Amino acid sequence: TGVQTCALPIYRIGIGYDVHQLVPERKLIIGGIVIPYHSGSLGHSDGDVLIHALIDAMLGAANLGDIGSHFPDTDPKLKGIDSKILLKKALSLITEKGFALVNIDSTICLQQPKIGQYFPAMQSILSDILNIEKERISIKATTTEKLGFIGKMEGISATTVALLKKSETEP
Ligand code: MG
Repeated sequence: TGVQTCALPIYRIGIGYDVHQLVPERKLIIGGIVIPYHSGSLGHSDGDVLIHALIDAMLGAANLGDIGSHFPDTDPKLKGIDSKILLKKALSLITEKGFALVNIDSTICLQQPKIGQYFPAMQSILSDILNIEKERISIKATTTEKLGFIGKMEGISATTVALLKKSETEP
C-alpha cells in the first residue's frame, strides 16, 4: 500500500498568453521572422507576440514567475530588444532549475496577414534557440472571424503551452 516512489520523471505544463497592439511604422515580428505588412506590433521590446507567450509558458511550467518579472518593460536596457535574446535567457532559467523542454504548441491569433508560409522558418529559429527538434515545435494560426480587436486588426495575440521534464524523481 501507499504511494509509489519509483523513478517517474517529473513533468510540468505551462501556459502563456500575450497581446500586442498593431500600429503603423512598426515591424511585424512573429517567431523571430519579420513578416512583410503595413503594420507591426507595438511594444517595449520588438513585440514578438509568439516568443513572449512561449517565454511565459516555459516560465510558468517551471513556476518561475512571468515574463514581466524577469524582463520588465520599464527597463531601458530592454528597449527594442530582440525577443530571441529573452527566449535564450528564459531557457537558461528553466535549465538552471533542472528542467528540459519536451514540446511546445502555439496558436497565433490574427485577422491579417496570412502567416502559414512562415511557420517552417519560425520553427527553424525556435529549434536553434531551444535546442529541440522542429518536430516538437507546433505553430498554428487562426482568425477571430473579424470579431473583436483582433478581427478589426487593432492587435494580435498568441497562446502557447510548454511541457517540461525534470530528470530527477519526486522526493
Ligand atoms: Mg508581449
